[in-house]
Amino acid sequence: MSYYSEKMIAMAAVREASDLCINVQQSLMGDSISKADKSPVTIADFGSQALVCSRIRRAYPGDPIIAEETSAALRKDENDSERNQMIHQVRLLRPDASAADILDWIDYGGHKKQADRFWTLDPIDGTKGFLRGDQYAVALALIVDGEVVVAALACPNLVLNSAPDCMGVLAVAVKGEGTELYQLGNMSPIGKAQVSSTAEPSEVRFSESVESAHTSHSDAQRIAGILGIEGKSVRLDSQAKYVVVAAGDAEIYMRLPSSRRYVENIWDHAGGMLIVEEAGGKVTDINGLPLSFTHGYLLESNQGVIVSNSILHQPLLGAIKKAEIGSKKRSS
Ligand code: AMP
Ligand code: MG
Repeated sequence: MSYYSEKMIAMAAVREASDLCINVQQSLMGDSISKADKSPVTIADFGSQALVCSRIRRAYPGDPIIAEETSAALRKDENDSERNQMIHQVRLLRPDASAADILDWIDYGGHKKQADRFWTLDPIDGTKGFLRGDQYAVALALIVDGEVVVAALACPNLVLNSAPDCMGVLAVAVKGEGTELYQLGNMSPIGKAQVSSTAEPSEVRFSESVESAHTSHSDAQRIAGILGIEGKSVRLDSQAKYVVVAAGDAEIYMRLPSSRRYVENIWDHAGGMLIVEEAGGKVTDINGLPLSFTHGYLLESNQGVIVSNSILHQPLLGAIKKAEIGSKKRSS
């Protein structure tokens, strides 16, 4: 099965949405909006979702979309200002869209349940990074019969070692066809992504979330110690971490549960997983189980996520076991 047209639509969708996010983030970095004000996230999150969902719906009217946001809160009177700013931002890219259209587009992403074929979208993955002016991603994936078959990640602030002069990367993967990297700005190819072949612990670079609420930094440090990894972790927000491993700029990404109750959302991992696997890497949960995209919007049967260049996966799982991380079952 070829997914050529889905791949092209996905690339165009995340690229357009990232233009909106870049515009909003630039205004955020000026003095006009305070960083403590969360409204830029609201504006960019909803605007990005509207743009991506409208493209998918136009190309594939029958495909459900499981996305992070719904427009309910934004439609309330008290959110007039954010709603109008969001509509303004979308209209900069789609001048003909009405306000009603734009709000409807957001709600195309309101599916929650499993389907034979569906898309999943995080309109801004890494909102904390977005607000800080750091890394974030627009993350889109197509899932067919529980398998991720197409992934597109736009990372507007990412710089890879293989393209040091270029800020902004678009990574795209189709199952069985590899992962391609492009400069987000002009879509010139950077090349095929290939994970690093480093296995020597002293040379291993590992990545993790900036936010300690999203991953246990202390457990990651213990595991790094068991493996003999000497370097410090590289902390990044969003699925940019998956792109960094896929491109060979790090060997490991660990997401170790910081709370037993938290269940990961599919839109935080579906795209990133395929990007890494198609570059030769491996992705499982902390128990070595494959991520299961058969439970609607949650990774219900998984605990945490670990990502590697494949060579280091078994040693990593061994170290996690030794450190007794995740040995207790998730409490319900
Ligand atoms: P990151 O930028 O890698 O730290 O991940 C951002 C994502 O973390 C957000 O999209 C949230 O969906 C997700 N998240 C929120 N709370 C938690 C948590 N307690 N554990 C893991 N991930 C979380
Ligand atoms: Mg997210």
